[in-house]
Amino acid sequence: MPFPPFSYRDRNLYVEDVELEQIARSAGTPVYVYSATAIAERYRRYDEAFGSTPHEVFYAVKANSNLSILRLLAAEGAGFDIVSGGELYRVLRAGGRPEKVVFSGVGKTREEVEYALSSGIHSFNCESESELTLIDSIASRLGVKARVAIRVNPHVDAQTHPYISTGLRDHKFGIDITAAEDVYSRALQLEHIVAEGVSCHIGSQLLDTAPLKEALDAVLALVGRLRARGVPIRHLDLGGGLGVPYKPDQVEPDVTAHVQDVCARCAGHDLKLMMEPGRSIVGPAGALLSRVLYRKSTESKEFVVVDAAMNDLIRPALYQAYHEIVPLRAHMPGTVVADVVGPVCETGDFFARDREMANVLPGDFIALCTAGAYGFVLASNYNTRPRPAEVLVEGASWKFIRTRETYEDLVRGEE
Ligand SMILES: *Cc1c(COP(=O)(O)O)cnc(C)c1O
Repeated sequence: MPFPPFSYRDRNLYVEDVELEQIARSAGTPVYVYSATAIAERYRRYDEAFGSTPHEVFYAVKANSNLSILRLLAAEGAGFDIVSGGELYRVLRAGGRPEKVVFSGVGKTREEVEYALSSGIHSFNCESESELTLIDSIASRLGVKARVAIRVNPHVDAQTHPYISTGLRDHKFGIDITAAEDVYSRALQLEHIVAEGVSCHIGSQLLDTAPLKEALDAVLALVGRLRARGVPIRHLDLGGGLGVPYKPDQVEPDVTAHVQDVCARCAGHDLKLMMEPGRSIVGPAGALLSRVLYRKSTESKEFVVVDAAMNDLIRPALYQAYHEIVPLRAHMPGTVVADVVGPVCETGDFFARDREMANVLPGDFIALCTAGAYGFVLASNYNTRPRPAEVLVEGASWKFIRTRETYEDLVRGEE
């Protein structure tokens, strides 16, 4: 079954007031479709839950960086969490304000730091001492002060897929929480660094918020120790990571309750609170539409061959991720147990294995649900396939927010 905001009306799949088959037919497939209303509502859940607590919600651009989506979120008042110079460029192009941008990531280059400092971003989430030194020297040359938070690694197991878990001792991310106090002390000596924040991000797709609370408690204790040493910590950035339902039996964590609990735990600490949600804002708001090309069977298997592939949506191949697959017209009788595969020449090019699903036939359209986050942004041109178009729906209307790539696009820049 599809998840809201996608739903059947009269056995035809809709998002908002638009019938998806109409988009599939006129935009062609594969095509990503997003609900503008759902994205805005999902952002507001975060913002409103903070109530009167001083806060900032930085949307994690890497989850879905389409300019129109960034523009929509900027208009809602969102800030942005970026992990590259390219993402900063997108945010500025979309009308995002630089003073509402935080720069995360373990491998910022000199050029990226310079671009961010001269654009006047809010702060850097620093992940190593050498990065602090680099930022200090560039800030000195530009004659500015760089606000930083140090990203600490609290040794908390996010209990999510190993590739999207980031808070354990042997992960490349952050500075070990036990070494953090010394790093802050040295940061105080750097003339062009203002070390006023602590940040932390332990992983993605967390359906249980208990590890986030464990991390918060460890970080709050650190803030106390830092202040006792004279480090004037003013903001706490708790990263992103809240999960979304991909399978019918998964329950989405209650964002409002989680944020309110964070505010309660931080009450009296005189901290500005920040979060960097990505997936939980855009994930359920999007789907990838695809057309069934062929059915084929072997002695032991039934295959549904579709026109989308791992280059369009890599999550199943990369993380063994599950995406619910539903027909755009739910009129076909019966079900089939099949592998849903794409045209790419890799055995890993599948969307589902041995899945009981609607008995779709060639020409029918399907939706791969919960594809708004880490979908298009991870798309590639593997097998020289043009990346799909992207469509934004609002109410009863829809528009392209990215056209399908052409063959000409595919060879741009090549000799
Ligand atoms: C990826 C990332 C996020 C967003 O994670 P979601 O699981 O999409 O909410 C936030 N902060 C940092 C530092 C990240 O790397």
